[in-house]
Amino acid sequence: MAYLFAPADATTVPVDGSDDVFPVNRIFCIGKNYADHVREMGSDPASTPPCIFMKPANCLKVGDGDLAYPSATTDLHYEGELVVALAAGGKDLNRAAIEAAIFGYACGLDMTRRDVQGDLKERRLPWDMGKSFDDCAAISAIRPKDACGSPADTHLKLSVNDAVRQNDTTAKMIWPAIDALVHLSTLIELKAGDLLYTGTPEGVGAVVRGDRIDLEIENVGSLSVTLK
Ligand code: MN
Repeated sequence: MAYLFAPADATTVPVDGSDDVFPVNRIFCIGKNYADHVREMGSDPASTPPCIFMKPANCLKVGDGDLAYPSATTDLHYEGELVVALAAGGKDLNRAAIEAAIFGYACGLDMTRRDVQGDLKERRLPWDMGKSFDDCAAISAIRPKDACGSPADTHLKLSVNDAVRQNDTTAKMIWPAIDALVHLSTLIELKAGDLLYTGTPEGVGAVVRGDRIDLEIENVGSLSVTLK
């Protein structure tokens, strides 16, 4: 038996302070995980529990540099997010097992074709094409958890062309990362290499070609991309 064609290369993310790389398995994302962002999107935080969606691992842009402006949108939004990286998995995990499975944390951008997403929402259809496209997610190097301080209570700051747009604490998550992963492990079997984008605070907005997005998460790292 032979492959019909060469399989795609695994997507890998550098590990901060090491020559190792982290092979990505799947990308999970939490929507509506900060109350102020839920409000800015026109929903009621009390009535809309966080939702989980996915992005293809081969659409991940790794590290600083250019990010492709996608087709089929005139309203591309940034969402700055804390990312959790797992080095082990399992089903129905408790908090201790999730904590043991976490390898580290990174800075991430959940890029969104807001106009496409809005149209799909209005028609009560899945959001996929609003959230999944080439370069639909970006990630910094992953920092091992022991070097990250307390990611559940750290500061996230995102600027576009040096103007601060998002400036908040990860302590405001409705579902803290560990609780979200406990829940996710009841829905699917988590695997080593899975990433979780933990949702974005308020201040999302549109970017155009040429804009530079800088994301910093205290004790976790930084990411800088330019839309092409
Ligand atoms: Mn998001």
